[in-house]
Amino acid sequence: MNIIILGPPGAGKGTQSKLISQQLSMLHISTGDMLRQAIAQQSAIGQIAEQYINEGNLIPDDVMVKLLLDKINQHNNQSVIIDGFPRNLHQAEVLAESEFVVDLVIELYSEDEDIIERLSGRRVHLASGRTYHSKFKPPLVDGIDDLTGEALVQRDDDNIRVISQRLKLYHSMIRPIRDFYQNSPVTYKRLQASGSVASVQQCFVEMLQAN
Ligand code: AMP
Repeated sequence: MNIIILGPPGAGKGTQSKLISQQLSMLHISTGDMLRQAIAQQSAIGQIAEQYINEGNLIPDDVMVKLLLDKINQHNNQSVIIDGFPRNLHQAEVLAESEFVVDLVIELYSEDEDIIERLSGRRVHLASGRTYHSKFKPPLVDGIDDLTGEALVQRDDDNIRVISQRLKLYHSMIRPIRDFYQNSPVTYKRLQASGSVASVQQCFVEMLQAN
């Protein structure tokens, strides 16, 4: 089964995708994580992506489509959970025209105030993608990853100016994507993201089992 998880930045797409993919032995593809790795490695894609990400804007579709389809094609017989793609109608259409079959789309939704609080307190261990929150999920030692002892950082795009831009972009993009899937044979479900991580995870699994 192949799943797409949609939602505003900070709704918990990454957290839930990681948990579900581990629980169900699925491949987790996060386009945001792929781009951050590319930036860290200073690859050609990383050099294109950095400025767009830091401004809260989308990387051009041709770059993203190729990045995603190449990744999917490397793992073409494993169930996949995609987090971060599609980000606009064109990406959804191109994915639908590819050989990749989407079985279920889950849209996480949340109030903008909750998103802003979540993102502005988020701290990340870059190497693993593990995330913390200064108020809701603090690390054992302030600023330090629990498992490796390495430093946590605040993502450059988790500041209020860029968060507002990312939310604005998200709100303009989600409606056409939702309409597209709801008018297709793909099952589309919405899930309130503001509960605890464990309760959202449980609802998520129930949605998968019902599908
Ligand atoms: P995320 O970690 O999913 O919040 O993504 C971080 C940033 O990466 C986004 O704000 C975009 O700049 C970029 N990005 C991630 N996925 C895509 C995509 N499918 N299309 C365009 N840009 C993307």
